[in-house]
Amino acid sequence: MSLPVADRAEVRRDTVRLLRAERGRVAGVVLLTCLATGAGLVGPYLLGRIVNLVEAGTATLGTVDRLAAGVLAAAFVQLLLTRYARRAVYRFGEHVLRRLREDFVGRVLSLPTRVVERSGTGDLTTRVSADVGNVGNGLRGALPEISMGVLQILVLVVAVTWLHPLLGLCALLGLPLVWPAARWYLRRSRETYLAEGAALSAALEGATATAEGGRTVEALGVQEDRRGVTDRDVGVLYRARRGSLRLRSVLFPVAEAVFVLPVSVTLLVGGAMYLNGGMSLGVLVTCLLYVQQMVDPMIGVTQRMEELQRAGASFARLRGVQRLPEESADPGRVPADDRIELSGVRYSYVPGHDVLRGIDLSVRPGERLAVVGPSGAGKTTIGRLLSGADAPGAGHVLLGGVPVAELAPEVLRERIVLVNQEHHVFTGTLRENLAIAAPEGVEADDTTLLRALDAVDADWARGLADGLDTRVGSGGEALSPARAQQVALARVVLLDPHTVVLDEATSLLDPRTARHTERSLAAVLEGRTVIAIAHRLHTAHDADRVAVVADGRITELGAHDELIAAGGAYAALWSSWHGTD
Ligand code: ADP
Repeated sequence: MSLPVADRAEVRRDTVRLLRAERGRVAGVVLLTCLATGAGLVGPYLLGRIVNLVEAGTATLGTVDRLAAGVLAAAFVQLLLTRYARRAVYRFGEHVLRRLREDFVGRVLSLPTRVVERSGTGDLTTRVSADVGNVGNGLRGALPEISMGVLQILVLVVAVTWLHPLLGLCALLGLPLVWPAARWYLRRSRETYLAEGAALSAALEGATATAEGGRTVEALGVQEDRRGVTDRDVGVLYRARRGSLRLRSVLFPVAEAVFVLPVSVTLLVGGAMYLNGGMSLGVLVTCLLYVQQMVDPMIGVTQRMEELQRAGASFARLRGVQRLPEESADPGRVPADDRIELSGVRYSYVPGHDVLRGIDLSVRPGERLAVVGPSGAGKTTIGRLLSGADAPGAGHVLLGGVPVAELAPEVLRERIVLVNQEHHVFTGTLRENLAIAAPEGVEADDTTLLRALDAVDADWARGLADGLDTRVGSGGEALSPARAQQVALARVVLLDPHTVVLDEATSLLDPRTARHTERSLAAVLEGRTVIAIAHRLHTAHDADRVAVVADGRITELGAHDELIAAGGAYAALWSSWHGTD
Protein backbone atom coordinates (compact mmCIF):
# COMPACT_ATOMS: atom_id res chain seq x y z
CA MET A 1 0.00 0.00 0.00
CA SER A 2 1.71 3.19 -1.08
CA LEU A 3 1.53 6.51 0.73
CA PRO A 4 -1.11 9.02 -0.37
CA VAL A 5 -0.59 11.77 -2.93
CA ALA A 6 -2.10 15.24 -2.53
CA ASP A 7 -4.79 16.09 -5.10
CA ARG A 8 -4.87 19.22 -7.23
CA ALA A 9 -6.95 21.27 -4.80
CA GLU A 10 -4.64 20.41 -1.93
CA VAL A 11 -1.56 21.25 -3.98
CA ARG A 12 -3.13 24.59 -4.88
CA ARG A 13 -4.00 25.29 -1.25
CA ASP A 14 -0.52 24.36 -0.06
CA THR A 15 1.11 26.49 -2.77
CA VAL A 16 -0.96 29.52 -1.79
CA ARG A 17 -0.11 28.90 1.85
CA LEU A 18 3.62 28.71 1.08
CA LEU A 19 3.50 31.85 -1.07
CA ARG A 20 1.60 33.67 1.62
CA ALA A 21 4.10 32.66 4.26
CA GLU A 22 6.85 34.11 2.06
CA ARG A 23 4.88 37.06 0.70
CA GLY A 24 7.61 39.60 1.51
CA ARG A 25 10.10 37.67 -0.59
CA VAL A 26 7.56 37.11 -3.39
CA ALA A 27 6.87 40.86 -3.55
CA GLY A 28 10.63 41.52 -3.66
CA VAL A 29 11.09 39.10 -6.56
CA VAL A 30 8.22 40.62 -8.55
CA LEU A 31 9.40 44.16 -7.94
CA LEU A 32 13.05 43.49 -8.82
CA THR A 33 12.14 41.51 -11.95
CA CYS A 34 9.82 44.26 -13.20
CA LEU A 35 12.50 46.87 -12.53
CA ALA A 36 15.14 44.79 -14.33
CA THR A 37 12.87 44.25 -17.34
CA GLY A 38 11.94 47.93 -17.23
CA ALA A 39 15.64 48.81 -17.40
CA GLY A 40 15.89 46.42 -20.37
CA LEU A 41 13.27 48.54 -22.18
CA VAL A 42 15.46 51.63 -22.07
CA GLY A 43 18.18 50.37 -24.47
CA PRO A 44 15.91 49.55 -27.46
CA TYR A 45 13.96 52.77 -26.83
CA LEU A 46 17.13 54.88 -27.03
CA LEU A 47 18.28 52.97 -30.11
CA GLY A 48 14.94 53.83 -31.74
CA ARG A 49 15.57 57.49 -30.90
CA ILE A 50 19.01 57.32 -32.53
CA VAL A 51 17.47 55.76 -35.66
CA ASN A 52 14.81 58.51 -35.80
CA LEU A 53 17.39 61.29 -35.39
CA VAL A 54 19.65 59.82 -38.04
CA GLU A 55 16.71 59.34 -40.41
CA ALA A 56 15.56 62.94 -39.89
CA GLY A 57 19.12 64.13 -40.46
CA THR A 58 19.14 66.01 -37.14
CA ALA A 59 21.59 63.75 -35.35
CA THR A 60 24.79 65.29 -34.02
CA LEU A 61 27.75 63.28 -32.85
CA GLY A 62 27.20 64.59 -29.31
CA THR A 63 23.52 63.47 -29.06
CA VAL A 64 24.27 60.05 -30.54
CA ASP A 65 27.15 59.59 -28.09
CA ARG A 66 24.94 60.62 -25.18
CA LEU A 67 22.15 58.29 -26.25
CA ALA A 68 24.64 55.44 -26.81
CA ALA A 69 26.04 56.05 -23.31
CA GLY A 70 22.44 55.81 -22.07
CA VAL A 71 22.08 52.41 -23.81
CA LEU A 72 25.22 51.20 -22.03
CA ALA A 73 24.13 52.58 -18.67
CA ALA A 74 20.68 50.96 -19.02
CA ALA A 75 22.31 47.62 -19.87
CA PHE A 76 24.49 47.90 -16.76
CA VAL A 77 21.55 48.78 -14.50
CA GLN A 78 19.58 45.87 -16.00
CA LEU A 79 22.46 43.50 -15.26
CA LEU A 80 22.64 44.68 -11.67
CA LEU A 81 18.89 44.47 -11.10
CA THR A 82 18.70 41.02 -12.74
CA ARG A 83 21.39 39.82 -10.39
CA TYR A 84 19.43 40.99 -7.35
CA ALA A 85 16.18 39.63 -8.76
CA ARG A 86 17.82 36.22 -9.20
CA ARG A 87 19.29 36.34 -5.75
CA ALA A 88 15.87 37.13 -4.31
CA VAL A 89 14.19 34.31 -6.20
CA TYR A 90 16.89 31.79 -5.16
CA ARG A 91 16.54 32.80 -1.55
CA PHE A 92 12.80 32.42 -1.82
CA GLY A 93 13.27 28.91 -3.31
CA GLU A 94 15.63 27.80 -0.56
CA HIS A 95 13.29 29.06 2.14
CA VAL A 96 10.34 27.20 0.65
CA LEU A 97 12.42 24.05 0.29
CA ARG A 98 13.53 24.25 3.91
CA ARG A 99 9.94 24.62 5.03
CA LEU A 100 8.87 21.65 2.90
CA ARG A 101 11.69 19.47 4.20
CA GLU A 102 10.96 20.35 7.80
CA ASP A 103 7.24 19.68 7.39
CA PHE A 104 7.95 16.37 5.67
CA VAL A 105 10.52 15.10 8.15
CA GLY A 106 8.36 16.23 11.06
CA ARG A 107 5.37 14.36 9.70
CA VAL A 108 7.29 11.22 8.79
CA LEU A 109 8.89 11.01 12.22
CA SER A 110 5.49 11.21 13.85
CA LEU A 111 4.00 8.45 11.67
CA PRO A 112 2.95 5.32 13.53
CA THR A 113 5.29 2.39 12.87
CA ARG A 114 2.47 0.43 11.27
CA VAL A 115 1.96 3.06 8.57
CA VAL A 116 5.66 3.05 7.73
CA GLU A 117 5.74 -0.74 7.72
CA ARG A 118 2.72 -1.02 5.47
CA SER A 119 3.76 1.58 2.96
CA GLY A 120 7.23 0.12 2.55
CA THR A 121 10.48 1.95 2.98
CA GLY A 122 11.03 2.31 -0.79
CA ASP A 123 8.20 4.78 -1.14
CA LEU A 124 9.35 6.89 1.79
CA THR A 125 12.96 6.74 0.62
CA THR A 126 12.02 7.87 -2.91
CA ARG A 127 9.98 10.70 -1.49
CA VAL A 128 12.76 11.85 0.80
CA SER A 129 15.42 11.59 -1.91
CA ALA A 130 14.12 11.84 -5.48
CA ASP A 131 11.02 13.91 -4.75
CA VAL A 132 12.77 16.40 -2.49
CA GLY A 133 15.44 16.63 -5.22
CA ASN A 134 12.83 17.28 -7.91
CA VAL A 135 11.13 19.98 -5.87
CA GLY A 136 14.55 21.47 -5.11
CA ASN A 137 15.44 21.55 -8.82
CA GLY A 138 12.07 23.09 -9.57
CA LEU A 139 12.54 25.79 -6.97
CA ARG A 140 16.15 26.51 -7.96
CA GLY A 141 15.81 26.25 -11.74
CA ALA A 142 12.29 26.19 -13.12
CA LEU A 143 10.62 28.57 -10.70
CA PRO A 144 13.08 31.49 -11.13
CA GLU A 145 13.25 30.98 -14.89
CA ILE A 146 9.49 30.71 -15.36
CA SER A 147 8.37 33.40 -12.95
CA MET A 148 10.95 35.89 -14.21
CA GLY A 149 10.32 34.85 -17.82
CA VAL A 150 6.57 35.37 -17.57
CA LEU A 151 7.03 38.77 -15.94
CA GLN A 152 9.51 39.80 -18.64
CA ILE A 153 7.11 38.73 -21.40
CA LEU A 154 4.27 40.68 -19.77
CA VAL A 155 6.32 43.85 -19.40
CA LEU A 156 7.55 43.58 -23.01
CA VAL A 157 4.05 42.99 -24.40
CA VAL A 158 2.78 46.01 -22.48
CA ALA A 159 5.68 48.10 -23.81
CA VAL A 160 5.12 47.09 -27.47
CA THR A 161 1.36 47.61 -27.18
CA TRP A 162 1.93 51.03 -25.65
CA LEU A 163 4.23 52.00 -28.54
CA HIS A 164 1.93 50.53 -31.16
CA PRO A 165 -1.21 48.50 -30.38
CA LEU A 166 -1.19 46.64 -33.71
CA LEU A 167 2.39 45.47 -33.21
CA GLY A 168 1.36 44.45 -29.68
CA LEU A 169 -1.13 42.07 -31.25
CA CYS A 170 1.60 40.73 -33.56
CA ALA A 171 3.76 40.04 -30.48
CA LEU A 172 0.95 37.95 -28.99
CA LEU A 173 0.48 35.98 -32.19
CA GLY A 174 2.37 32.94 -30.93
CA LEU A 175 -0.03 32.47 -27.99
CA PRO A 176 -3.10 31.01 -29.75
CA LEU A 177 -0.81 28.63 -31.60
CA VAL A 178 1.18 27.41 -28.61
CA TRP A 179 -1.86 27.30 -26.34
CA PRO A 180 -3.39 24.02 -27.63
CA ALA A 181 -0.02 22.27 -27.39
CA ALA A 182 0.53 23.62 -23.88
CA ARG A 183 -2.97 22.55 -22.79
CA TRP A 184 -2.50 19.10 -24.25
CA TYR A 185 0.77 18.88 -22.33
CA LEU A 186 -0.54 20.26 -19.02
CA ARG A 187 -3.59 17.96 -19.07
CA ARG A 188 -1.39 14.90 -19.19
CA SER A 189 1.69 15.99 -17.34
CA ARG A 190 0.51 15.59 -13.74
CA GLU A 191 -0.61 11.98 -14.15
CA THR A 192 2.44 11.15 -16.23
CA TYR A 193 4.92 12.48 -13.72
CA LEU A 194 2.98 10.95 -10.80
CA ALA A 195 3.09 7.59 -12.60
CA GLU A 196 6.82 8.05 -13.06
CA GLY A 197 7.30 8.78 -9.35
CA ALA A 198 5.22 5.75 -8.35
CA ALA A 199 7.15 3.52 -10.76
CA LEU A 200 10.43 4.75 -9.30
CA SER A 201 9.19 4.02 -5.75
CA ALA A 202 8.11 0.52 -6.75
CA ALA A 203 11.39 -0.24 -8.51
CA LEU A 204 13.36 0.92 -5.48
CA GLU A 205 11.11 -1.04 -3.12
CA GLY A 206 11.64 -4.24 -5.12
CA ALA A 207 15.39 -3.76 -5.47
CA THR A 208 15.77 -3.01 -1.75
CA ALA A 209 13.74 -6.07 -0.81
CA THR A 210 15.92 -8.26 -3.04
CA ALA A 211 19.13 -6.78 -1.64
CA GLU A 212 18.00 -7.01 1.98
CA GLY A 213 16.79 -10.55 1.53
CA GLY A 214 19.84 -11.54 -0.49
CA ARG A 215 20.67 -14.56 1.66
CA THR A 216 17.09 -15.78 1.60
CA VAL A 217 16.94 -15.34 -2.16
CA GLU A 218 20.12 -17.38 -2.50
CA ALA A 219 19.04 -20.03 0.00
CA LEU A 220 15.71 -20.57 -1.75
CA GLY A 221 17.25 -20.31 -5.20
CA VAL A 222 14.68 -17.74 -6.31
CA GLN A 223 17.16 -15.46 -8.09
CA GLU A 224 15.21 -15.83 -11.33
CA ASP A 225 11.96 -14.80 -9.63
CA ARG A 226 13.56 -11.75 -8.11
CA ARG A 227 15.15 -10.86 -11.44
CA GLY A 228 11.69 -11.18 -12.95
CA VAL A 229 10.30 -8.76 -10.35
CA THR A 230 13.09 -6.28 -11.07
CA ASP A 231 12.60 -6.63 -14.84
CA ARG A 232 8.90 -6.01 -14.44
CA ASP A 233 9.47 -2.93 -12.25
CA VAL A 234 12.09 -1.54 -14.60
CA GLY A 235 9.72 -2.19 -17.52
CA VAL A 236 7.01 -0.16 -15.82
CA LEU A 237 9.49 2.61 -15.08
CA TYR A 238 10.72 2.55 -18.69
CA ARG A 239 7.18 2.93 -20.01
CA ALA A 240 6.48 5.75 -17.56
CA ARG A 241 9.66 7.56 -18.65
CA ARG A 242 8.72 7.12 -22.30
CA GLY A 243 5.33 8.64 -21.51
CA SER A 244 6.92 11.79 -20.11
CA LEU A 245 9.38 11.97 -23.02
CA ARG A 246 6.49 11.80 -25.47
CA LEU A 247 4.89 14.81 -23.79
CA ARG A 248 8.05 16.82 -24.23
CA SER A 249 8.55 15.70 -27.79
CA VAL A 250 5.23 17.30 -28.74
CA LEU A 251 5.40 20.55 -26.78
CA PHE A 252 8.98 21.59 -27.47
CA PRO A 253 9.04 21.52 -31.29
CA VAL A 254 5.65 23.27 -31.51
CA ALA A 255 6.75 25.96 -29.08
CA GLU A 256 10.10 26.59 -30.74
CA ALA A 257 8.56 26.85 -34.20
CA VAL A 258 5.93 29.24 -32.92
CA PHE A 259 8.31 31.58 -31.13
CA VAL A 260 10.04 32.92 -34.23
CA LEU A 261 6.65 33.76 -35.73
CA PRO A 262 5.98 37.02 -33.81
CA VAL A 263 9.40 38.41 -34.82
CA SER A 264 8.80 37.81 -38.54
CA VAL A 265 5.17 39.00 -38.46
CA THR A 266 6.13 42.15 -36.52
CA LEU A 267 8.83 42.81 -39.10
CA LEU A 268 6.39 42.30 -42.00
CA VAL A 269 3.50 44.32 -40.59
CA GLY A 270 5.74 47.03 -39.12
CA GLY A 271 7.77 47.24 -42.36
CA ALA A 272 4.60 47.68 -44.43
CA MET A 273 3.35 50.42 -42.10
CA TYR A 274 6.70 52.19 -42.18
CA LEU A 275 6.67 52.12 -45.98
CA ASN A 276 3.13 53.58 -45.96
CA GLY A 277 4.28 56.28 -43.57
CA GLY A 278 2.20 54.94 -40.68
CA MET A 279 5.14 54.50 -38.33
CA SER A 280 8.60 55.89 -37.77
CA LEU A 281 11.62 53.67 -38.32
CA GLY A 282 12.69 54.32 -34.73
CA VAL A 283 9.47 52.90 -33.26
CA LEU A 284 9.71 49.90 -35.59
CA VAL A 285 13.29 49.18 -34.47
CA THR A 286 12.34 49.53 -30.79
CA CYS A 287 9.30 47.26 -31.20
CA LEU A 288 11.29 44.68 -33.09
CA LEU A 289 13.97 44.63 -30.43
CA TYR A 290 11.29 44.18 -27.73
CA VAL A 291 9.64 41.33 -29.61
CA GLN A 292 13.05 39.77 -30.18
CA GLN A 293 13.72 40.07 -26.42
CA MET A 294 10.62 37.96 -25.76
CA VAL A 295 12.00 34.90 -27.58
CA ASP A 296 14.52 33.89 -24.90
CA PRO A 297 12.11 33.99 -21.95
CA MET A 298 9.49 32.15 -24.04
CA ILE A 299 11.90 29.31 -24.82
CA GLY A 300 13.08 29.35 -21.21
CA VAL A 301 9.51 29.09 -19.89
CA THR A 302 8.61 26.17 -22.18
CA GLN A 303 11.76 24.25 -21.46
CA ARG A 304 11.43 24.68 -17.73
CA MET A 305 7.74 23.83 -17.78
CA GLU A 306 8.67 20.15 -17.71
CA GLU A 307 10.85 20.62 -14.65
CA LEU A 308 8.07 22.55 -12.96
CA GLN A 309 5.51 19.84 -13.74
CA ARG A 310 7.86 17.20 -12.44
CA ALA A 311 8.43 19.31 -9.33
CA GLY A 312 4.66 19.73 -9.01
CA ALA A 313 4.11 15.97 -9.05
CA SER A 314 6.87 15.49 -6.49
CA PHE A 315 5.36 18.27 -4.40
CA ALA A 316 2.03 16.41 -4.45
CA ARG A 317 3.82 13.26 -3.29
CA LEU A 318 5.61 15.12 -0.50
CA ARG A 319 2.49 16.89 0.68
CA GLY A 320 0.52 13.65 0.40
CA VAL A 321 2.25 12.41 3.53
CA GLN A 322 0.59 15.24 5.45
CA ARG A 323 -2.72 13.68 4.48
CA LEU A 324 -2.10 10.55 6.48
CA PRO A 325 -4.50 10.53 9.38
CA GLU A 326 -3.06 12.08 12.49
CA GLU A 327 -2.49 9.61 15.27
CA SER A 328 -5.96 9.04 16.61
CA ALA A 329 -4.33 9.13 20.00
CA ASP A 330 -5.80 11.47 22.51
CA PRO A 331 -2.99 12.60 24.82
CA GLY A 332 -5.50 13.06 27.59
CA ARG A 333 -6.54 9.42 27.42
CA VAL A 334 -4.87 7.60 30.25
CA PRO A 335 -5.34 3.94 31.22
CA ALA A 336 -7.16 3.41 34.51
CA ASP A 337 -4.60 0.83 35.69
CA ASP A 338 -1.98 -1.51 34.32
CA ARG A 339 -4.15 -4.54 33.67
CA ILE A 340 -3.73 -5.98 30.20
CA GLU A 341 -6.72 -7.61 28.50
CA LEU A 342 -6.80 -9.34 25.15
CA SER A 343 -10.19 -10.51 24.00
CA GLY A 344 -11.13 -12.17 20.73
CA VAL A 345 -7.97 -10.78 19.12
CA ARG A 346 -7.54 -11.59 15.45
CA TYR A 347 -4.82 -10.23 13.22
CA SER A 348 -3.65 -10.72 9.68
CA TYR A 349 -0.66 -9.35 7.77
CA VAL A 350 -2.16 -10.47 4.50
CA PRO A 351 -5.94 -10.02 4.14
CA GLY A 352 -7.82 -13.29 4.54
CA HIS A 353 -4.89 -15.01 6.20
CA ASP A 354 -5.26 -14.70 9.98
CA VAL A 355 -2.11 -15.32 11.99
CA LEU A 356 -3.91 -14.69 15.28
CA ARG A 357 -7.24 -16.46 15.46
CA GLY A 358 -9.02 -15.39 18.62
CA ILE A 359 -6.66 -14.73 21.51
CA ASP A 360 -8.15 -14.22 24.99
CA LEU A 361 -5.71 -13.37 27.72
CA SER A 362 -5.68 -11.32 30.86
CA VAL A 363 -2.46 -10.31 32.58
CA ARG A 364 -2.61 -8.82 36.03
CA PRO A 365 -0.14 -6.13 37.12
CA GLY A 366 3.13 -7.56 38.38
CA GLU A 367 2.56 -10.96 36.81
CA ARG A 368 5.27 -12.81 34.89
CA LEU A 369 3.87 -14.51 31.86
CA ALA A 370 5.91 -16.64 29.49
CA VAL A 371 4.63 -17.14 25.96
CA VAL A 372 5.96 -20.27 24.29
CA GLY A 373 5.15 -22.18 21.14
CA PRO A 374 6.53 -23.26 17.81
CA SER A 375 8.05 -20.78 15.41
CA GLY A 376 5.46 -18.97 13.30
CA ALA A 377 2.71 -19.53 15.88
CA GLY A 378 2.11 -15.79 16.26
CA LYS A 379 4.08 -14.96 19.44
CA THR A 380 5.90 -11.97 17.97
CA THR A 381 2.65 -10.70 16.57
CA ILE A 382 1.12 -10.76 20.05
CA GLY A 383 4.14 -8.76 21.26
CA ARG A 384 3.64 -6.20 18.48
CA LEU A 385 -0.01 -5.74 19.39
CA LEU A 386 0.82 -5.40 23.08
CA SER A 387 3.37 -2.69 22.32
CA GLY A 388 0.83 -0.74 20.25
CA ALA A 389 2.78 -1.16 17.00
CA ASP A 390 -0.47 -2.15 15.35
CA ALA A 391 -4.14 -2.54 16.17
CA PRO A 392 -5.88 -5.93 16.01
CA GLY A 393 -8.13 -6.64 13.02
CA ALA A 394 -10.87 -7.77 15.39
CA GLY A 395 -11.17 -7.92 19.17
CA HIS A 396 -9.47 -5.73 21.73
CA VAL A 397 -6.01 -5.24 23.18
CA LEU A 398 -6.66 -3.09 26.24
CA LEU A 399 -4.42 -1.51 28.83
CA GLY A 400 -6.40 -0.33 31.82
CA GLY A 401 -9.55 -0.38 29.66
CA VAL A 402 -8.09 1.70 26.79
CA PRO A 403 -7.10 0.22 23.39
CA VAL A 404 -3.29 0.18 23.37
CA ALA A 405 -3.01 1.34 19.74
CA GLU A 406 -5.04 4.45 20.57
CA LEU A 407 -2.76 5.62 23.34
CA ALA A 408 -0.47 8.56 22.60
CA PRO A 409 3.11 7.28 22.15
CA GLU A 410 4.38 9.30 25.13
CA VAL A 411 1.67 7.81 27.36
CA LEU A 412 2.19 4.30 26.07
CA ARG A 413 5.97 4.14 26.32
CA GLU A 414 5.89 5.07 29.97
CA ARG A 415 3.72 2.01 30.52
CA ILE A 416 4.61 -0.73 28.06
CA VAL A 417 8.00 -1.18 26.43
CA LEU A 418 8.88 -3.86 23.90
CA VAL A 419 12.43 -5.16 23.99
CA ASN A 420 13.33 -7.32 21.01
CA GLN A 421 16.47 -8.29 19.15
CA GLU A 422 16.78 -4.94 17.43
CA HIS A 423 18.97 -2.86 19.68
CA HIS A 424 19.59 0.14 17.59
CA VAL A 425 22.46 2.38 18.54
CA PHE A 426 21.93 5.84 17.10
CA THR A 427 24.92 7.75 15.81
CA GLY A 428 25.63 10.26 18.53
CA THR A 429 26.87 10.29 22.10
CA LEU A 430 26.06 7.65 24.67
CA ARG A 431 24.19 10.36 26.54
CA GLU A 432 21.95 11.07 23.52
CA ASN A 433 21.34 7.36 23.08
CA LEU A 434 20.06 7.14 26.61
CA ALA A 435 18.32 10.49 26.84
CA ILE A 436 15.83 9.60 24.08
CA ALA A 437 14.24 7.37 26.69
CA ALA A 438 13.97 10.01 29.38
CA PRO A 439 10.36 10.85 30.15
CA GLU A 440 8.90 13.68 28.10
CA GLY A 441 10.21 17.09 29.16
CA VAL A 442 12.60 15.75 31.76
CA GLU A 443 16.28 16.52 31.24
CA ALA A 444 17.99 13.42 32.57
CA ASP A 445 21.10 14.32 34.56
CA ASP A 446 24.34 12.35 34.56
CA THR A 447 23.59 10.64 37.84
CA THR A 448 20.29 9.30 36.51
CA LEU A 449 21.88 8.09 33.28
CA LEU A 450 24.83 6.44 35.03
CA ARG A 451 22.51 4.81 37.54
CA ALA A 452 20.49 3.36 34.66
CA LEU A 453 23.69 1.95 33.15
CA ASP A 454 24.73 0.52 36.53
CA ALA A 455 21.34 -1.13 36.89
CA VAL A 456 22.04 -3.18 33.76
CA ASP A 457 25.63 -4.02 34.76
CA ALA A 458 27.10 -1.80 32.05
CA ASP A 459 30.24 -1.03 34.07
CA TRP A 460 32.18 -0.54 30.81
CA ALA A 461 30.38 2.77 30.34
CA ARG A 462 32.24 4.37 33.24
CA GLY A 463 35.54 3.37 31.66
CA LEU A 464 34.88 5.16 28.33
CA ALA A 465 37.37 7.92 27.52
CA ASP A 466 34.74 10.66 27.27
CA GLY A 467 32.24 9.04 29.60
CA LEU A 468 28.65 9.78 28.59
CA ASP A 469 29.90 12.08 25.85
CA THR A 470 31.67 9.27 24.01
CA ARG A 471 30.43 9.02 20.45
CA VAL A 472 28.89 5.64 19.69
CA GLY A 473 27.32 4.02 16.64
CA SER A 474 28.70 4.22 13.14
CA GLY A 475 31.80 6.39 13.03
CA GLY A 476 32.22 6.31 16.81
CA GLU A 477 32.96 3.67 19.42
CA ALA A 478 31.52 0.44 18.04
CA LEU A 479 29.31 -1.21 20.65
CA SER A 480 29.25 -5.00 20.72
CA PRO A 481 25.78 -6.60 20.50
CA ALA A 482 25.90 -7.24 24.24
CA ARG A 483 26.68 -3.60 25.00
CA ALA A 484 24.07 -2.36 22.55
CA GLN A 485 21.60 -4.56 24.35
CA GLN A 486 22.61 -3.13 27.69
CA VAL A 487 22.05 0.37 26.31
CA ALA A 488 18.58 -0.78 25.19
CA LEU A 489 17.88 -2.15 28.65
CA ALA A 490 19.18 1.03 30.30
CA ARG A 491 16.61 2.88 28.20
CA VAL A 492 13.94 0.63 29.72
CA VAL A 493 15.19 1.56 33.19
CA LEU A 494 14.92 5.24 32.28
CA LEU A 495 11.45 4.86 30.81
CA ASP A 496 10.44 2.95 33.92
CA PRO A 497 7.39 1.29 32.33
CA HIS A 498 5.02 -0.85 34.31
CA THR A 499 5.09 -3.61 31.72
CA VAL A 500 7.99 -5.01 29.69
CA VAL A 501 7.38 -7.26 26.70
CA LEU A 502 10.51 -9.27 25.92
CA ASP A 503 10.67 -10.82 22.48
CA GLU A 504 13.60 -13.21 22.37
CA ALA A 505 15.61 -10.28 23.57
CA THR A 506 18.72 -12.27 24.34
CA SER A 507 18.53 -15.03 21.74
CA LEU A 508 21.15 -13.56 19.40
CA LEU A 509 23.81 -13.42 22.07
CA ASP A 510 26.32 -16.12 22.83
CA PRO A 511 25.44 -18.12 25.97
CA ARG A 512 27.98 -16.42 28.25
CA THR A 513 26.89 -12.92 27.30
CA ALA A 514 23.28 -14.00 27.42
CA ARG A 515 23.69 -15.21 31.01
CA HIS A 516 25.32 -11.90 31.89
CA THR A 517 22.59 -9.92 30.18
CA GLU A 518 19.88 -11.97 31.76
CA ARG A 519 21.28 -11.05 35.14
CA SER A 520 21.04 -7.38 34.13
CA LEU A 521 17.60 -8.10 32.81
CA ALA A 522 16.48 -9.52 36.14
CA ALA A 523 17.41 -6.21 37.78
CA VAL A 524 15.49 -4.28 35.14
CA LEU A 525 12.40 -6.44 35.44
CA GLU A 526 12.17 -6.27 39.19
CA GLY A 527 8.67 -5.21 40.21
CA ARG A 528 7.23 -4.95 36.68
CA THR A 529 4.70 -6.94 34.71
CA VAL A 530 6.73 -9.11 32.35
CA ILE A 531 5.48 -10.81 29.21
CA ALA A 532 8.38 -12.88 27.95
CA ILE A 533 8.24 -14.52 24.55
CA ALA A 534 10.49 -17.36 25.54
CA HIS A 535 12.82 -19.51 23.58
CA ARG A 536 14.64 -20.93 26.56
CA LEU A 537 12.19 -22.85 28.63
CA HIS A 538 13.78 -22.01 31.97
CA THR A 539 12.20 -18.57 31.51
CA ALA A 540 8.87 -20.36 31.35
CA HIS A 541 9.71 -22.42 34.42
CA ASP A 542 10.36 -19.26 36.45
CA ALA A 543 7.23 -17.48 35.23
CA ASP A 544 3.97 -17.22 37.15
CA ARG A 545 2.03 -18.55 34.18
CA VAL A 546 2.82 -20.01 30.80
CA ALA A 547 0.76 -19.48 27.66
CA VAL A 548 1.32 -21.97 24.87
CA VAL A 549 0.54 -20.49 21.47
CA ALA A 550 -0.01 -22.72 18.48
CA ASP A 551 -1.39 -21.70 15.13
CA GLY A 552 -2.66 -18.31 16.27
CA ARG A 553 -4.45 -19.57 19.39
CA ILE A 554 -3.62 -20.07 23.04
CA THR A 555 -3.87 -23.81 23.50
CA GLU A 556 -2.68 -24.09 27.10
CA LEU A 557 -2.52 -21.56 29.90
CA GLY A 558 -1.44 -22.09 33.48
CA ALA A 559 1.43 -22.34 35.96
CA HIS A 560 4.39 -24.46 34.93
CA ASP A 561 3.58 -27.20 37.43
CA GLU A 562 -0.07 -27.34 36.40
CA LEU A 563 0.81 -27.69 32.74
CA ILE A 564 3.37 -30.38 33.48
CA ALA A 565 0.76 -32.22 35.54
CA ALA A 566 -1.77 -31.86 32.74
CA GLY A 567 0.62 -33.71 30.43
CA GLY A 568 -0.21 -31.69 27.29
CA ALA A 569 1.92 -30.04 24.61
CA TYR A 570 3.86 -27.98 27.14
CA ALA A 571 4.73 -31.03 29.19
CA ALA A 572 6.00 -32.72 26.02
CA LEU A 573 8.01 -29.64 25.08
CA TRP A 574 9.46 -29.43 28.59
CA SER A 575 10.51 -33.03 28.76
CA SER A 576 12.14 -32.95 25.32
CA TRP A 577 13.93 -29.68 26.15
CA HIS A 578 14.96 -30.84 29.58
CA GLY A 579 16.14 -34.12 28.24
CA THR A 580 18.53 -32.49 25.83
CA ASP A 581 19.74 -29.61 27.99
P1 ADP B 1 6.38 -16.38 16.09
O1 ADP B 1 6.87 -15.17 16.82
O2 ADP B 1 5.54 -17.28 16.93
O3 ADP B 1 7.49 -17.14 15.42
P2 ADP B 1 5.17 -14.49 14.29
O4 ADP B 1 4.21 -13.71 15.08
O5 ADP B 1 6.50 -13.87 13.99
O6 ADP B 1 5.39 -15.92 14.95
O7 ADP B 1 4.51 -14.86 12.90
C1 ADP B 1 3.24 -15.44 12.77
C2 ADP B 1 2.93 -15.64 11.32
O8 ADP B 1 2.82 -14.38 10.69
C3 ADP B 1 3.98 -16.40 10.56
O9 ADP B 1 3.32 -17.28 9.69
C4 ADP B 1 4.72 -15.35 9.79
O10 ADP B 1 5.18 -15.87 8.58
C5 ADP B 1 3.65 -14.31 9.57
N1 ADP B 1 4.25 -12.95 9.51
C6 ADP B 1 5.00 -12.37 10.46
N2 ADP B 1 5.35 -11.12 10.10
C7 ADP B 1 4.80 -10.90 8.89
C8 ADP B 1 4.78 -9.80 7.97
N3 ADP B 1 5.39 -8.65 8.24
N4 ADP B 1 4.10 -9.95 6.81
C9 ADP B 1 3.46 -11.11 6.53
N5 ADP B 1 3.43 -12.17 7.34
C10 ADP B 1 4.09 -12.09 8.51
